[in-house]
Amino acid sequence: MSEVRVRIAPSPSGNLHIGTARTALFNYLFAKKNNGKFVLRIEDTDAERTSQAYIDNIFDSLKALGLNWDEGPDVGGEYGPYTQSERFDIYPKYAQILLDKGFAYECFCTPEELEAEKAIATQNKKPYVYTKRCEHLTEEEKEKFRKEGRKPAIRFNISKAQRAFHDSSILKFNDMVKGELHVDTDLLGDFVIMKSNGTPTYNFAVVIDDMLMKISHIIRGEDHISNTFKQILIYEALGAEVPEFGHLGMILAPDRSKLSKRHGATAVSEFVEKGYLTEALINFVALLGWSPSDGVEIKTVDEIAKDFRIHDVSSSNSIFEYDKLNWMNSHYIKMLDIEDLKERLKPYLTKYDLSELSDAQYTRMVEVTREPLTILSDITDAVPYFFGEDVEIEPKAQTEVLDTEVAQDVLEEFARQAQGWEFEEENLHHKLEVFRGEYKEKGIKPKVTMWAIRAAVTGRTCGADMTAILAILGKERTLHRVRKAMKPAVKN
Ligand code: GLU
Repeated sequence: MSEVRVRIAPSPSGNLHIGTARTALFNYLFAKKNNGKFVLRIEDTDAERTSQAYIDNIFDSLKALGLNWDEGPDVGGEYGPYTQSERFDIYPKYAQILLDKGFAYECFCTPEELEAEKAIATQNKKPYVYTKRCEHLTEEEKEKFRKEGRKPAIRFNISKAQRAFHDSSILKFNDMVKGELHVDTDLLGDFVIMKSNGTPTYNFAVVIDDMLMKISHIIRGEDHISNTFKQILIYEALGAEVPEFGHLGMILAPDRSKLSKRHGATAVSEFVEKGYLTEALINFVALLGWSPSDGVEIKTVDEIAKDFRIHDVSSSNSIFEYDKLNWMNSHYIKMLDIEDLKERLKPYLTKYDLSELSDAQYTRMVEVTREPLTILSDITDAVPYFFGEDVEIEPKAQTEVLDTEVAQDVLEEFARQAQGWEFEEENLHHKLEVFRGEYKEKGIKPKVTMWAIRAAVTGRTCGADMTAILAILGKERTLHRVRKAMKPAVKN
Protein backbone atom coordinates (compact mmCIF):
# COMPACT_ATOMS: atom_id res chain seq x y z
CA MET A 1 0.00 0.00 0.00
CA SER A 2 1.25 3.49 -0.74
CA GLU A 3 1.73 5.82 2.19
CA VAL A 4 -1.24 6.30 4.49
CA ARG A 5 -2.17 9.96 4.63
CA VAL A 6 -5.23 11.17 6.49
CA ARG A 7 -6.48 14.61 7.35
CA ILE A 8 -8.81 16.63 9.50
CA ALA A 9 -10.31 19.53 7.60
CA PRO A 10 -12.30 21.75 9.95
CA SER A 11 -14.17 24.82 8.77
CA PRO A 12 -13.39 27.66 11.17
CA SER A 13 -16.98 28.79 11.63
CA GLY A 14 -16.94 27.97 15.35
CA ASN A 15 -14.75 26.67 18.14
CA LEU A 16 -13.51 23.08 17.69
CA HIS A 17 -16.53 20.87 18.32
CA ILE A 18 -16.13 17.76 20.43
CA GLY A 19 -17.43 15.72 17.47
CA THR A 20 -14.68 17.13 15.25
CA ALA A 21 -12.22 16.23 17.99
CA ARG A 22 -13.40 12.63 17.74
CA THR A 23 -13.04 12.66 13.94
CA ALA A 24 -9.56 14.15 14.35
CA LEU A 25 -8.69 11.48 16.91
CA PHE A 26 -9.82 8.59 14.72
CA ASN A 27 -7.80 9.97 11.82
CA TYR A 28 -4.82 10.47 14.11
CA LEU A 29 -5.15 6.90 15.44
CA PHE A 30 -5.43 5.53 11.93
CA ALA A 31 -2.25 7.38 10.91
CA LYS A 32 -0.39 6.14 14.02
CA LYS A 33 -1.48 2.59 13.52
CA ASN A 34 -0.38 2.60 9.87
CA ASN A 35 2.80 4.67 10.18
CA GLY A 36 1.04 7.32 8.17
CA LYS A 37 0.80 11.10 8.18
CA PHE A 38 -1.89 13.21 9.83
CA VAL A 39 -2.61 16.46 8.01
CA LEU A 40 -4.49 19.55 9.23
CA ARG A 41 -6.22 21.63 6.59
CA ILE A 42 -8.27 24.72 7.35
CA GLU A 43 -11.33 24.94 5.11
CA ASP A 44 -12.04 28.65 5.21
CA THR A 45 -13.61 29.20 1.81
CA ASP A 46 -16.71 30.63 3.44
CA ALA A 47 -15.12 33.95 4.35
CA GLU A 48 -18.22 35.31 6.06
CA ARG A 49 -18.36 32.55 8.65
CA THR A 50 -14.62 32.32 9.20
CA SER A 51 -12.69 34.10 11.93
CA GLN A 52 -9.08 34.06 13.10
CA ALA A 53 -10.28 33.44 16.65
CA TYR A 54 -11.90 30.18 15.53
CA ILE A 55 -8.77 29.16 13.63
CA ASP A 56 -6.69 29.77 16.77
CA ASN A 57 -9.21 27.84 18.82
CA ILE A 58 -8.96 24.86 16.44
CA PHE A 59 -5.15 24.87 16.67
CA ASP A 60 -5.12 25.24 20.46
CA SER A 61 -7.79 22.60 21.06
CA LEU A 62 -6.17 19.98 18.85
CA LYS A 63 -2.80 20.65 20.46
CA ALA A 64 -4.25 20.51 23.96
CA LEU A 65 -5.72 17.12 23.13
CA GLY A 66 -2.31 15.94 21.94
CA LEU A 67 -3.50 15.52 18.34
CA ASN A 68 -0.39 16.96 16.74
CA TRP A 69 -0.33 17.11 12.97
CA ASP A 70 2.57 16.26 10.69
CA GLU A 71 1.60 18.83 8.06
CA GLY A 72 -0.57 21.89 8.41
CA PRO A 73 -0.83 25.66 8.03
CA ASP A 74 1.67 26.38 10.81
CA VAL A 75 4.18 23.56 10.31
CA GLY A 76 3.97 23.49 6.52
CA GLY A 77 4.70 20.39 4.47
CA GLU A 78 5.26 19.20 0.95
CA TYR A 79 1.71 19.81 -0.26
CA GLY A 80 0.90 23.26 1.10
CA PRO A 81 -0.53 25.74 1.50
CA TYR A 82 -2.82 24.01 3.99
CA THR A 83 -5.35 26.83 4.25
CA GLN A 84 -7.97 26.76 1.52
CA SER A 85 -8.23 30.53 1.13
CA GLU A 86 -4.56 30.51 0.11
CA ARG A 87 -5.29 27.97 -2.61
CA PHE A 88 -7.87 29.91 -4.63
CA ASP A 89 -5.60 30.04 -7.69
CA ILE A 90 -5.47 26.22 -7.83
CA TYR A 91 -9.15 25.38 -8.28
CA PRO A 92 -10.02 27.13 -11.59
CA LYS A 93 -7.37 25.09 -13.34
CA TYR A 94 -9.08 21.83 -12.38
CA ALA A 95 -12.51 23.22 -13.17
CA GLN A 96 -11.16 23.99 -16.64
CA ILE A 97 -9.96 20.38 -17.01
CA LEU A 98 -13.47 19.18 -16.22
CA LEU A 99 -14.95 21.67 -18.69
CA ASP A 100 -12.51 20.51 -21.37
CA LYS A 101 -13.34 16.87 -20.73
CA GLY A 102 -17.04 17.62 -20.92
CA PHE A 103 -17.69 16.65 -17.30
CA ALA A 104 -18.67 20.19 -16.39
CA TYR A 105 -20.54 23.04 -18.02
CA GLU A 106 -21.15 26.71 -17.48
CA CYS A 107 -24.46 27.61 -15.93
CA PHE A 108 -25.91 31.10 -16.33
CA CYS A 109 -29.08 30.56 -14.32
CA THR A 110 -29.91 33.39 -11.96
CA PRO A 111 -30.94 32.72 -8.35
CA GLU A 112 -34.49 33.71 -9.35
CA GLU A 113 -34.58 31.18 -12.19
CA LEU A 114 -33.33 28.46 -9.88
CA GLU A 115 -35.93 29.38 -7.26
CA ALA A 116 -38.63 29.08 -9.93
CA GLU A 117 -37.38 25.59 -10.87
CA LYS A 118 -37.48 24.56 -7.22
CA ALA A 119 -41.00 25.90 -6.85
CA ILE A 120 -42.18 23.75 -9.75
CA ALA A 121 -40.58 20.65 -8.22
CA THR A 122 -42.29 21.40 -4.93
CA GLN A 123 -45.60 21.88 -6.72
CA ASN A 124 -45.19 18.49 -8.39
CA LYS A 125 -44.14 16.98 -5.04
CA LYS A 126 -40.82 15.88 -6.59
CA PRO A 127 -37.37 16.20 -4.99
CA TYR A 128 -35.56 19.03 -6.71
CA VAL A 129 -32.71 18.27 -9.06
CA TYR A 130 -31.28 20.90 -11.40
CA THR A 131 -32.95 20.62 -14.81
CA LYS A 132 -29.66 20.84 -16.73
CA ARG A 133 -31.09 23.67 -18.81
CA CYS A 134 -27.60 25.12 -19.30
CA GLU A 135 -25.99 21.80 -20.28
CA HIS A 136 -26.17 22.36 -24.01
CA LEU A 137 -26.00 26.13 -24.38
CA THR A 138 -24.51 27.25 -27.67
CA GLU A 139 -21.64 29.73 -27.78
CA GLU A 140 -24.08 32.38 -29.03
CA GLU A 141 -26.44 31.81 -26.10
CA LYS A 142 -23.56 32.03 -23.66
CA GLU A 143 -22.35 35.22 -25.30
CA LYS A 144 -25.82 36.70 -24.99
CA PHE A 145 -25.90 35.95 -21.27
CA ARG A 146 -22.45 37.43 -20.81
CA LYS A 147 -23.57 40.60 -22.53
CA GLU A 148 -26.46 40.78 -20.09
CA GLY A 149 -23.82 40.87 -17.38
CA ARG A 150 -24.41 37.34 -16.16
CA LYS A 151 -21.41 35.52 -14.75
CA PRO A 152 -21.50 31.74 -15.07
CA ALA A 153 -21.13 29.21 -12.32
CA ILE A 154 -19.62 25.85 -13.28
CA ARG A 155 -21.69 22.74 -12.72
CA PHE A 156 -20.50 19.18 -12.56
CA ASN A 157 -22.26 16.89 -14.99
CA ILE A 158 -23.20 13.97 -12.76
CA SER A 159 -24.89 11.73 -15.29
CA LYS A 160 -22.10 12.16 -17.80
CA ALA A 161 -19.42 11.21 -15.29
CA GLN A 162 -21.50 8.35 -13.91
CA ARG A 163 -22.24 6.91 -17.35
CA ALA A 164 -18.57 7.23 -18.36
CA PHE A 165 -17.32 5.09 -15.49
CA HIS A 166 -20.25 2.89 -14.41
CA ASP A 167 -22.78 0.61 -16.06
CA SER A 168 -25.88 2.18 -14.60
CA SER A 169 -26.93 5.18 -12.59
CA ILE A 170 -26.05 3.33 -9.36
CA LEU A 171 -22.80 4.37 -7.70
CA LYS A 172 -21.37 2.11 -5.01
CA PHE A 173 -18.41 2.22 -2.70
CA ASN A 174 -17.17 0.12 0.16
CA ASP A 175 -17.08 2.20 3.31
CA MET A 176 -14.44 1.20 5.90
CA VAL A 177 -16.98 1.63 8.69
CA LYS A 178 -20.38 1.13 7.12
CA GLY A 179 -19.71 -1.48 4.45
CA GLU A 180 -21.21 -1.11 0.97
CA LEU A 181 -23.09 2.10 0.33
CA HIS A 182 -24.82 3.08 -2.87
CA VAL A 183 -26.91 5.83 -4.39
CA ASP A 184 -28.88 6.42 -7.56
CA THR A 185 -26.88 9.30 -9.03
CA ASP A 186 -29.85 10.42 -11.12
CA LEU A 187 -31.22 11.83 -7.89
CA LEU A 188 -28.16 13.92 -7.10
CA GLY A 189 -28.49 16.75 -9.59
CA ASP A 190 -25.66 18.58 -11.31
CA PHE A 191 -24.10 20.59 -8.53
CA VAL A 192 -22.05 23.77 -8.70
CA ILE A 193 -18.30 23.29 -8.37
CA MET A 194 -17.25 26.89 -8.99
CA LYS A 195 -19.51 29.75 -7.98
CA SER A 196 -20.06 32.66 -10.32
CA ASN A 197 -17.72 34.75 -8.13
CA GLY A 198 -14.87 32.36 -8.98
CA THR A 199 -14.64 30.58 -5.64
CA PRO A 200 -14.93 26.80 -5.34
CA THR A 201 -17.72 25.04 -3.47
CA TYR A 202 -16.91 22.66 -0.63
CA ASN A 203 -17.38 19.48 -2.68
CA PHE A 204 -14.95 20.65 -5.33
CA ALA A 205 -12.27 22.25 -3.16
CA VAL A 206 -12.20 19.24 -0.87
CA VAL A 207 -11.54 16.82 -3.75
CA ILE A 208 -8.84 18.97 -5.32
CA ASP A 209 -7.13 19.42 -1.96
CA ASP A 210 -7.39 15.77 -0.93
CA MET A 211 -6.13 14.75 -4.34
CA LEU A 212 -3.16 17.15 -4.37
CA MET A 213 -2.35 16.42 -0.73
CA LYS A 214 -2.34 12.70 -1.62
CA ILE A 215 -4.87 11.83 1.06
CA SER A 216 -5.30 8.06 1.01
CA HIS A 217 -8.10 7.58 3.55
CA ILE A 218 -10.90 9.96 4.44
CA ILE A 219 -12.50 9.39 7.83
CA ARG A 220 -15.32 11.79 8.69
CA GLY A 221 -18.89 12.02 9.94
CA GLU A 222 -21.73 10.18 8.21
CA ASP A 223 -23.37 13.52 7.44
CA HIS A 224 -20.89 13.65 4.56
CA ILE A 225 -22.02 10.41 2.87
CA SER A 226 -24.12 12.21 0.27
CA ASN A 227 -21.12 14.41 -0.52
CA THR A 228 -18.88 11.38 -0.87
CA PHE A 229 -20.80 10.11 -3.90
CA LYS A 230 -20.38 13.46 -5.62
CA GLN A 231 -16.73 13.58 -4.67
CA ILE A 232 -16.02 10.07 -5.99
CA LEU A 233 -17.35 11.10 -9.39
CA ILE A 234 -15.10 14.17 -9.45
CA TYR A 235 -12.05 12.01 -8.72
CA GLU A 236 -13.06 9.68 -11.51
CA ALA A 237 -13.72 12.51 -13.94
CA LEU A 238 -10.26 13.92 -13.22
CA GLY A 239 -8.70 10.49 -13.70
CA ALA A 240 -7.45 10.54 -10.10
CA GLU A 241 -7.23 7.64 -7.67
CA VAL A 242 -10.28 7.51 -5.41
CA PRO A 243 -9.31 7.37 -1.70
CA GLU A 244 -10.86 4.99 0.81
CA PHE A 245 -13.71 6.41 2.84
CA GLY A 246 -14.90 5.67 6.36
CA HIS A 247 -17.97 7.41 7.78
CA LEU A 248 -18.49 7.62 11.53
CA GLY A 249 -21.91 7.51 13.19
CA MET A 250 -23.15 10.72 14.71
CA ILE A 251 -22.70 11.72 18.32
CA LEU A 252 -26.08 12.23 19.94
CA ALA A 253 -27.10 13.76 23.26
CA PRO A 254 -28.52 11.45 25.96
CA ASP A 255 -32.03 12.38 24.73
CA ARG A 256 -31.04 11.05 21.26
CA SER A 257 -31.23 14.48 19.66
CA LYS A 258 -28.31 16.23 17.99
CA LEU A 259 -25.73 17.25 20.58
CA SER A 260 -26.15 20.99 21.06
CA LYS A 261 -25.51 23.82 23.47
CA ARG A 262 -28.69 23.15 25.40
CA HIS A 263 -27.23 19.81 26.55
CA GLY A 264 -24.09 21.44 27.95
CA ALA A 265 -20.66 22.18 26.58
CA THR A 266 -19.99 21.16 22.96
CA ALA A 267 -16.68 22.84 22.12
CA VAL A 268 -13.46 21.32 23.40
CA SER A 269 -12.40 24.69 24.83
CA GLU A 270 -15.68 24.95 26.78
CA PHE A 271 -15.03 21.57 28.38
CA VAL A 272 -11.47 22.63 29.20
CA GLU A 273 -12.66 25.91 30.74
CA LYS A 274 -15.07 24.01 32.94
CA GLY A 275 -12.21 21.92 34.21
CA TYR A 276 -12.30 18.74 32.18
CA LEU A 277 -8.84 17.30 31.69
CA THR A 278 -7.82 16.90 28.07
CA GLU A 279 -6.58 13.39 28.92
CA ALA A 280 -10.07 12.46 30.11
CA LEU A 281 -11.77 14.15 27.16
CA ILE A 282 -9.70 12.37 24.54
CA ASN A 283 -10.10 9.01 26.31
CA PHE A 284 -13.86 9.60 26.49
CA VAL A 285 -14.32 10.55 22.84
CA ALA A 286 -12.28 7.52 21.74
CA LEU A 287 -15.03 5.40 23.26
CA LEU A 288 -17.70 7.06 21.12
CA GLY A 289 -17.87 4.34 18.51
CA TRP A 290 -14.79 2.34 19.45
CA SER A 291 -14.21 -0.15 22.28
CA PRO A 292 -10.97 -1.60 23.56
CA SER A 293 -10.35 -5.30 22.89
CA ASP A 294 -9.46 -5.95 26.54
CA GLY A 295 -12.48 -4.11 27.95
CA VAL A 296 -10.27 -1.66 29.87
CA GLU A 297 -11.68 1.76 29.08
CA ILE A 298 -9.14 4.01 30.78
CA LYS A 299 -6.37 4.33 28.25
CA THR A 300 -3.89 6.84 26.88
CA VAL A 301 -3.99 7.78 23.21
CA ASP A 302 -0.81 5.75 22.61
CA GLU A 303 -2.41 2.67 24.16
CA ILE A 304 -5.55 3.21 22.09
CA ALA A 305 -3.50 3.61 18.91
CA LYS A 306 -2.01 0.14 19.35
CA ASP A 307 -5.45 -1.44 19.66
CA PHE A 308 -7.34 0.72 17.14
CA ARG A 309 -8.74 -0.72 13.92
CA ILE A 310 -11.03 1.40 11.78
CA HIS A 311 -13.01 -1.67 10.77
CA ASP A 312 -13.93 -2.23 14.43
CA VAL A 313 -15.53 1.20 14.71
CA SER A 314 -19.26 0.94 15.20
CA SER A 315 -21.39 2.10 12.31
CA SER A 316 -24.18 3.29 14.58
CA ASN A 317 -24.59 6.55 16.43
CA SER A 318 -23.02 7.05 19.85
CA ILE A 319 -24.56 8.69 22.87
CA PHE A 320 -22.60 11.42 24.59
CA GLU A 321 -23.07 10.42 28.23
CA TYR A 322 -22.09 13.45 30.29
CA ASP A 323 -22.28 11.27 33.43
CA LYS A 324 -19.69 8.91 32.07
CA LEU A 325 -17.44 11.80 31.10
CA ASN A 326 -17.79 13.15 34.65
CA TRP A 327 -16.89 9.80 36.12
CA MET A 328 -13.88 9.54 33.85
CA ASN A 329 -12.78 13.06 34.61
CA SER A 330 -12.93 12.53 38.37
CA HIS A 331 -10.90 9.36 37.87
CA TYR A 332 -8.26 11.29 35.94
CA ILE A 333 -8.17 13.99 38.61
CA LYS A 334 -7.56 11.32 41.25
CA MET A 335 -4.70 9.88 39.21
CA LEU A 336 -2.92 13.21 38.69
CA ASP A 337 0.41 13.83 40.30
CA ILE A 338 -0.07 16.35 43.13
CA GLU A 339 2.30 18.97 41.70
CA ASP A 340 0.55 18.74 38.35
CA LEU A 341 -2.85 19.04 40.00
CA LYS A 342 -1.73 22.07 42.02
CA GLU A 343 -0.80 23.85 38.81
CA ARG A 344 -3.96 22.86 36.96
CA LEU A 345 -6.17 24.07 39.81
CA LYS A 346 -4.66 27.56 39.92
CA PRO A 347 -6.88 29.04 37.18
CA TYR A 348 -9.89 28.10 39.31
CA LEU A 349 -8.52 29.70 42.46
CA THR A 350 -7.99 33.22 41.17
CA LYS A 351 -10.66 34.66 43.47
CA TYR A 352 -8.50 33.68 46.45
CA ASP A 353 -5.17 35.08 47.54
CA LEU A 354 -2.97 32.02 47.14
CA SER A 355 -0.05 33.91 48.62
CA GLU A 356 -1.74 33.46 52.01
CA LEU A 357 -0.62 29.84 51.83
CA SER A 358 2.90 28.46 51.86
CA ASP A 359 3.63 25.86 49.21
CA ALA A 360 3.34 23.13 51.84
CA GLN A 361 -0.04 24.48 52.97
CA TYR A 362 -1.29 24.70 49.39
CA THR A 363 -0.16 21.13 48.80
CA ARG A 364 -2.00 19.95 51.89
CA MET A 365 -5.14 21.89 50.98
CA VAL A 366 -5.21 20.22 47.57
CA GLU A 367 -4.52 16.80 49.07
CA VAL A 368 -7.49 17.02 51.40
CA THR A 369 -9.94 18.57 48.93
CA ARG A 370 -9.19 16.65 45.69
CA GLU A 371 -11.19 13.50 46.44
CA PRO A 372 -14.71 14.75 45.59
CA LEU A 373 -13.69 16.86 42.57
CA THR A 374 -15.51 15.93 39.37
CA ILE A 375 -14.19 18.84 37.34
CA LEU A 376 -11.31 21.13 38.26
CA SER A 377 -13.64 24.11 38.71
CA ASP A 378 -15.30 22.30 41.64
CA ILE A 379 -12.30 23.44 43.67
CA THR A 380 -13.56 27.04 43.67
CA ASP A 381 -16.44 26.32 46.01
CA ALA A 382 -14.60 23.67 47.99
CA VAL A 383 -11.99 25.91 49.60
CA PRO A 384 -13.22 29.39 50.63
CA TYR A 385 -12.61 28.71 54.32
CA PHE A 386 -8.89 28.25 53.79
CA PHE A 387 -8.62 31.96 53.04
CA GLY A 388 -9.16 35.19 54.97
CA GLU A 389 -9.60 35.85 58.67
CA ASP A 390 -13.31 35.29 58.87
CA VAL A 391 -15.56 32.74 57.35
CA GLU A 392 -19.07 32.95 56.02
CA ILE A 393 -21.41 30.68 57.99
CA GLU A 394 -23.95 28.77 55.91
CA PRO A 395 -27.51 29.00 57.30
CA LYS A 396 -27.64 25.27 57.89
CA ALA A 397 -24.40 25.31 59.90
CA GLN A 398 -25.80 28.18 61.96
CA THR A 399 -29.25 26.82 62.75
CA GLU A 400 -28.56 23.13 62.93
CA VAL A 401 -25.19 23.27 64.62
CA LEU A 402 -23.97 26.56 66.04
CA ASP A 403 -27.31 27.53 67.57
CA THR A 404 -27.42 24.37 69.69
CA GLU A 405 -26.41 24.39 73.31
CA VAL A 406 -24.10 21.48 72.91
CA ALA A 407 -22.18 23.18 70.10
CA GLN A 408 -21.77 26.32 72.18
CA ASP A 409 -20.45 24.20 75.02
CA VAL A 410 -17.99 22.43 72.71
CA LEU A 411 -16.74 25.72 71.30
CA GLU A 412 -16.18 27.25 74.72
CA GLU A 413 -14.24 24.24 75.87
CA PHE A 414 -12.33 24.02 72.60
CA ALA A 415 -11.33 27.70 72.81
CA ARG A 416 -10.07 27.13 76.33
CA GLN A 417 -8.10 23.95 75.63
CA ALA A 418 -6.76 24.66 72.12
CA GLN A 419 -5.08 27.80 73.42
CA GLY A 420 -2.34 25.53 74.73
CA TRP A 421 -2.11 23.19 71.73
CA GLU A 422 0.55 23.08 69.13
CA PHE A 423 -1.21 23.36 65.72
CA GLU A 424 0.74 20.70 63.93
CA GLU A 425 -1.25 17.93 62.24
CA GLU A 426 -0.05 14.91 64.13
CA ASN A 427 -0.35 16.66 67.43
CA LEU A 428 -3.76 18.09 66.56
CA HIS A 429 -4.95 14.66 65.54
CA HIS A 430 -4.09 13.34 68.97
CA LYS A 431 -5.50 16.34 70.86
CA LEU A 432 -8.79 16.20 68.98
CA GLU A 433 -9.10 12.52 69.69
CA VAL A 434 -8.74 13.15 73.41
CA PHE A 435 -11.12 16.10 73.17
CA ARG A 436 -13.80 14.02 71.46
CA GLY A 437 -13.24 11.29 74.03
CA GLU A 438 -13.99 13.70 76.87
CA TYR A 439 -17.28 14.69 75.26
CA LYS A 440 -18.11 11.09 74.53
CA GLU A 441 -17.92 10.42 78.20
CA LYS A 442 -20.44 13.20 78.73
CA GLY A 443 -22.71 11.38 76.25
CA ILE A 444 -21.97 13.54 73.19
CA LYS A 445 -21.22 11.62 70.00
CA PRO A 446 -17.75 12.33 68.49
CA LYS A 447 -19.28 13.49 65.22
CA VAL A 448 -21.47 16.02 67.05
CA THR A 449 -18.40 17.41 68.79
CA MET A 450 -16.58 17.73 65.47
CA TRP A 451 -19.58 19.34 63.78
CA ALA A 452 -19.44 22.20 66.20
CA ILE A 453 -15.78 22.86 65.45
CA ARG A 454 -16.27 22.41 61.71
CA ALA A 455 -19.26 24.74 61.59
CA ALA A 456 -17.39 27.44 63.48
CA VAL A 457 -14.15 27.18 61.53
CA THR A 458 -15.41 26.42 58.00
CA GLY A 459 -19.00 27.70 58.18
CA ARG A 460 -20.13 24.37 56.76
CA THR A 461 -21.42 21.05 57.98
CA CYS A 462 -19.13 18.94 55.85
CA GLY A 463 -15.86 19.26 54.01
CA ALA A 464 -12.24 18.24 54.12
CA ASP A 465 -10.35 16.58 56.96
CA MET A 466 -10.65 18.78 60.09
CA THR A 467 -7.16 18.18 61.42
CA ALA A 468 -5.63 19.31 58.12
CA ILE A 469 -7.93 22.35 58.00
CA LEU A 470 -6.98 23.45 61.52
CA ALA A 471 -3.29 22.93 60.84
CA ILE A 472 -3.45 25.01 57.66
CA LEU A 473 -5.43 27.79 59.33
CA GLY A 474 -3.17 27.85 62.40
CA LYS A 475 -4.06 28.51 65.99
CA GLU A 476 -4.79 32.19 65.82
CA ARG A 477 -7.28 32.08 62.97
CA THR A 478 -8.94 28.93 64.28
CA LEU A 479 -9.52 30.47 67.70
CA HIS A 480 -10.65 33.75 66.16
CA ARG A 481 -13.34 31.94 64.17
CA VAL A 482 -14.35 29.75 67.10
CA ARG A 483 -14.78 32.78 69.36
CA LYS A 484 -16.76 34.58 66.69
CA ALA A 485 -19.16 31.64 66.49
CA MET A 486 -19.74 31.73 70.24
CA LYS A 487 -22.88 33.45 71.48
CA PRO A 488 -22.34 36.57 73.60
CA ALA A 489 -23.81 34.94 76.70
CA VAL A 490 -21.28 32.16 76.49
CA LYS A 491 -18.41 34.47 75.59
CA ASN A 492 -18.75 36.44 78.82
N1 GLU B 1 -14.77 21.35 6.23
C1 GLU B 1 -15.61 20.19 6.29
C2 GLU B 1 -16.33 20.16 7.60
O1 GLU B 1 -15.89 20.81 8.54
C3 GLU B 1 -14.74 18.97 6.12
C4 GLU B 1 -15.49 17.77 5.77
C5 GLU B 1 -14.58 16.69 5.27
O2 GLU B 1 -13.93 16.07 6.13
O3 GLU B 1 -14.48 16.50 4.09
O4 GLU B 1 -17.35 19.51 7.73
